[in-house]
Amino acid sequence: MHYTGTIWRPPYEASSLLLEVTAGCTHHQCKFCTLYDDIPFNFRMSPLEDIEADLRETKEQLRLWKQSQVTRTFLTGANPFVLEYQRLMKIAELIKRYFPSNQTIGCFSRITDIKLKTDDELKELRKAGYDGLTIGMETADDSALEFMNKGYTSTDILA
Ligand code: SF4
Repeated sequence: MHYTGTIWRPPYEASSLLLEVTAGCTHHQCKFCTLYDDIPFNFRMSPLEDIEADLRETKEQLRLWKQSQVTRTFLTGANPFVLEYQRLMKIAELIKRYFPSNQTIGCFSRITDIKLKTDDELKELRKAGYDGLTIGMETADDSALEFMNKGYTSTDILA
């Protein structure tokens, strides 16, 4: 598997297939954050060939271990939802091709990543399986958000 650095996931994604589609964080400026300090770059998008190779490897491993099918996939990296709509749809299509049993897709997202999509794109992404964004908004206190360099305001969060 093409895992880079420490792989972080929410506790409730423990049974999900962890699929690397990005590594690091596009923002990389929150004062308190050391999560991706162990990799030598800020952000990287995985090549589609690597993503497909990991899906193929997972399928083969599950076959060898006679495990049950994948029903949920969690995309790794600090904010894979920053990827463009077309790329997220392509990733969903690849997951479905290798695991028709997969029902839903989760990932971390920044507030600013959601704002990059139109309402129609968000609806299509939901239909394609994206149903669980984990967002570390931290606080809605504007002075704390600014002090910590979160890169958005409470108004952005509400929107
Ligand atoms: S957005 Fe998240 S991962 Fe990126 S620097 Fe801030 S807290 Fe860390």
